[in-house]
Amino acid sequence: MLIDSHAHIDTSRFNSDREAVIQAALEGGVTCIIDPGTDLSSSRFALSLAKTHPGIVFAGVATHPHDATTYSDEVGIQYREMAREPEVVAIGEFGLDYFRMLSPRDVQRAVFCSHLQLARECDLPCIIHVRDSHDDVIELLRAHGQGLRGVFHCFSGNVAQAEECLEFDGFMLSFAGPLTRQGNALPEVARMAPPDRILVETDSPYLVPQPLRARRNEPLFVKYVAEKLAEIRGMSYEEVAQITTANTVRLFGLGGYIR
Ligand SMILES: [Zn+2]
Repeated sequence: MLIDSHAHIDTSRFNSDREAVIQAALEGGVTCIIDPGTDLSSSRFALSLAKTHPGIVFAGVATHPHDATTYSDEVGIQYREMAREPEVVAIGEFGLDYFRMLSPRDVQRAVFCSHLQLARECDLPCIIHVRDSHDDVIELLRAHGQGLRGVFHCFSGNVAQAEECLEFDGFMLSFAGPLTRQGNALPEVARMAPPDRILVETDSPYLVPQPLRARRNEPLFVKYVAEKLAEIRGMSYEEVAQITTANTVRLFGLGGYIR
């Protein structure tokens, strides 16, 4: 049993075969998928998928930093309403992306803080996107995130940055396809992270794990991330599946819902 803690199965890349993709995941031992919304309509769709796949799909609601300019107080009110539904298990995905910088930096920072506030009000974990923005994320979390919990999704930093992230007690590091690729510090990070602070994900439809040649990532492929994590940590696949599943269930409060 494995959980894909981050897959955008609401996106149009899955329009032609979404049900088959979910079925393939289930048949392959991926029992649960968390779909984080990236704007209001994506969050709504993620919630509707969660409602039609009870105990299998769960939703996050948030505005991604790429779309930060579409966020408003009105959107925040909608997220708060949606977060009352039991299928909404996180505020996410939100964060700071200074790599693509599709929204101005000051707007991204303000919207980031609004989401921290939402997570606090809704008592939900945060799913945080960090790209070329580590220092700002840490600064804003130190100032406004005390006592919150969540995950640094698709963690892509080095060991020193991982240590800073892990100083936030309620936060986990999540590993995705880049762990299977050469030329990054992720194996060291994956080795040093405490076992009760690690998750696995695909970030579907992006970041296909190696050595797959698929054009599109999907939740079933989270197995390759778990396999790599097991190899790096010198654990069995079953052990990695068991601890990452337990961590995901604990962080997102899935215990009462999964079958
Ligand atoms: Zn994502």
